[in-house]
Amino acid sequence: MDQVKFIPLSVPNFGGREKEYVNDAVVSEWVSTGGSKVPAFEKAIADFVGMPTAVACNSGTSGLHLAMLTAGVKPGDLVLAPTLTFIAAVNPIRYCFADPVFIGCDDSLGMDPAAVRAFCENDCELRGDTLYHKATGRRVSAMSIVHVFGNLADMEALMPIARQYHIAVVEDATEALGSYYTEGVYAGKFAGTIGDVGVYSFNGNKIMTTGSGGMVVTNHPEWAAHMKHLSTQAKSSPDSYTHDEVGYNYRLTNLQAALGLAQIEQLEGFISHKKKMYDFYFERLNGKNGLRMLGWRPGTRPNRWFFSVDMKDSAVSRDELIRILAENKIQSRSIWDLIHEQKPYHGSLTVGIEKAVDYQNRIVNIPCSTSLSEEDAARVVEVILNAVQPR
Ligand SMILES: *Cc1c(COP(=O)(O)O)cnc(C)c1O
Repeated sequence: MDQVKFIPLSVPNFGGREKEYVNDAVVSEWVSTGGSKVPAFEKAIADFVGMPTAVACNSGTSGLHLAMLTAGVKPGDLVLAPTLTFIAAVNPIRYCFADPVFIGCDDSLGMDPAAVRAFCENDCELRGDTLYHKATGRRVSAMSIVHVFGNLADMEALMPIARQYHIAVVEDATEALGSYYTEGVYAGKFAGTIGDVGVYSFNGNKIMTTGSGGMVVTNHPEWAAHMKHLSTQAKSSPDSYTHDEVGYNYRLTNLQAALGLAQIEQLEGFISHKKKMYDFYFERLNGKNGLRMLGWRPGTRPNRWFFSVDMKDSAVSRDELIRILAENKIQSRSIWDLIHEQKPYHGSLTVGIEKAVDYQNRIVNIPCSTSLSEEDAARVVEVILNAVQPR
């Protein structure tokens, strides 16, 4: 009897030439890491974000690992990382046998520049070109900046601190493919192209997908070559089995690249649809009964990957709203649990995390698929407004 349609949080959208391109790959019998579609997809992403090259890999996580290795993260180092993010942004630090120092967020949910500066200034010292953490004597070699939900982090504030203290910048742009600055010193620059190395993800829930996959871009041409080398078992030449370091099996497959080529043709359309649906929700939810829609950094064109409702001033709690939505067959979710509280990271250093703790309890992500219809979004709005009504 219950015919109410399930509305998912975020699902892939294969409305383009996916089947045709995947079929090409199957017919050609190039289904693994060889084949013409992988370099074609690398070029398509590089062109899209305005970089000379891009290196494809089999996930955003493997891309982040390659980025950390190439940025010079060594065993025993400290790496600055956000506590309010997906854990895949942090685990690659440990893959390099380094440890994170967890930094809080600003109101964009991105890494808080004030906390980064305070840590570098008060807790560290520069010896020559190397930053050391005074209490432990450990080297601080890099920072991992996440552009949360497609909203750009404060790169204008973060980059000068990184340069002053000689810290490599890894941009985790896994959620932010297509976001760019429209104003300021980085006008025209895409998320992922501002620091030393940037990483995109094509996991199933991201703005475009290859099933699983990632892509790395860098402002150091020799890093790109090295990351590709590491991703393909560090094989010294195509025709021999000579390996000059420990490599990885991290390359994207031709099948996945086929999906990616069809998806990137639609990316600008996906981003426009996200804007349309965000605006639809904003008009109907923002300011209603203590609800607030989290906004986007001024002077940017965000991809608006995920939409967040801030429950801070609502009489209804985050978990209560999620429960009511689920009862109505609408999928939503809270923001991630803080990483410094996760078992593998107990006892890590933390700096300025108060705001991250606060936001963690307030945010609900609501359906935002690129195929979401106004009819379905209207039902989401109705259920939310009903849930937060004063009784
Ligand atoms: C999705 C995501 C990753 C990992 O990407 P995968 O392709 O799933 O490995 C890393 N960091 C953040 C912030 C993400 O959202």
